[in-house]
Amino acid sequence: MRILLVEDERMIAGFVSRGLVEEGHRVEVAGTLTDARVAAFSSPWDLLIVDRMLPDGDGLSLVRELRRNGSAVPALCLTAMDRVEERIAGLTGGADDYMVKPFSFAELLARVENVTRRATHSAREIVVADLVIDVAARRVTRAGKPVQLTTQEFNLLRYLAEHAGQVLTRARLLDAVWDMRFDPGTNMVDVYMSYIRAKIDKGFEKSLLHTVRGVGYVLEDRPR
Ligand code: CA
Repeated sequence: MRILLVEDERMIAGFVSRGLVEEGHRVEVAGTLTDARVAAFSSPWDLLIVDRMLPDGDGLSLVRELRRNGSAVPALCLTAMDRVEERIAGLTGGADDYMVKPFSFAELLARVENVTRRATHSAREIVVADLVIDVAARRVTRAGKPVQLTTQEFNLLRYLAEHAGQVLTRARLLDAVWDMRFDPGTNMVDVYMSYIRAKIDKGFEKSLLHTVRGVGYVLEDRPR
């Protein structure tokens, strides 16, 4: 795994990174919030280990910023701030786990494995009502029946499912799924939505893909 370790105390950074490298991980250390932000946004990570008390701010603010930008990268907070309110702030701020200093490396390793196992598991399968998307195998079923999708249809459905319950605009979908930062002036999104709708909703009692007039689309299990 590629791990970004945000820690300003050299001794701790050294011992944690050495231990993780010995376990076969690749580790980059950032000693300030500024350096951590640059590293976090410039390349993909499998895990962030973030100290809270950094010389230029609270490491948790970086986790919050990543979450606001839609990043689901697992984050483990490492800190000397051990009051209950501080732990709660860490977890509600988007951290997946919280560890108080001093800690043993064995415990850190166990938590690292836990956090990343949960993350891989949740990323592997996305479920919306009886629609199941197996991300790794790129297989989709609705009520247990296989649904055949083209690559682009799959990518679009996956994005909708990852943001189930959120209304997504055409512009956002074009950017996220087709990597288009401009409106090509076509009804491409609507055309693809009609393809997907025919495959996942047609013949089923309950529709999951909904058009929000004048705004966009939402994949959602709505109560009847
Ligand atoms: Ca510190």
